[in-house]
Amino acid sequence: MDKIGKLLRKNLPLAKETKEETDGTKYRCPLCQDRGIIINDDIAYQCQCVKHRTALKNFLSANVTPVIATYTFDKFQLSYYSPHIQIESGGPTYRALAEGALHGAKEFVARYLEQKNGTGLLLEGNVGSGKTFLAGAIINALIEHEKQVLFLVVPDFLDDLRATYQKQGEFSEAELMDTARKAEVLVLDDLGAHNFSDWTQNKIFSLINYRMNHGLPCVITTNLSIGEMNDVVGLRTVSRIIQMCKIYRLYVDEDIRVVLHRGR
Ligand SMILES: [Zn+2]
Repeated sequence: MDKIGKLLRKNLPLAKETKEETDGTKYRCPLCQDRGIIINDDIAYQCQCVKHRTALKNFLSANVTPVIATYTFDKFQLSYYSPHIQIESGGPTYRALAEGALHGAKEFVARYLEQKNGTGLLLEGNVGSGKTFLAGAIINALIEHEKQVLFLVVPDFLDDLRATYQKQGEFSEAELMDTARKAEVLVLDDLGAHNFSDWTQNKIFSLINYRMNHGLPCVITTNLSIGEMNDVVGLRTVSRIIQMCKIYRLYVDEDIRVVLHRGR
């Protein structure tokens, strides 16, 4: 078991239902009244709700691969980004953009550790431009400090949500959504790399909107420009992302992963 997986299992927040503080307190689990244990003949047993929540956490954290666990700020190679090529005449070079993104990512971690909230990040760039690497470095830096991070590959997450309708799965759609909504830091990888329908737009809006309203930061990576995101993800979601995130762009003249593969 990799270190990240272990830490995530330990640190991932549980989806918490709001308790109704009315006359009769309404418990999320009536069996144990949310204590997690049931006493029977003076013997304490773990309630089934705890087992269920542990399984939910494991399910959602399964997306953090051992490869992502190796991504750190130290290993982010600025040399892959050309100091000569500009995005447009007179514009910043690829190198300058990468330096900005690296700085922004480190600053996000520092700010979060200080205030526990704050502005998130939108990392925009082509396939192989290093944006998932930076997002992974953020995850690892936060986990080092025992913070709660949830990593979701957006197309996979949408598939998982969809699957809850078709099969008698272990988890309900509400449980998956709630865990994503309430994670302390949520990393959404590859936003926009999915089909766009009213359904996907509504799910993503619901997630982003909840997090914005509760001051919970997101780190988002996407292949799309803001204009393209408006079409795929929807205007109202993009306007919230812009409000809650600093935007950085990453460009490379060659897919970094291909370069690495050749061992340059
Ligand atoms: Zn229980």
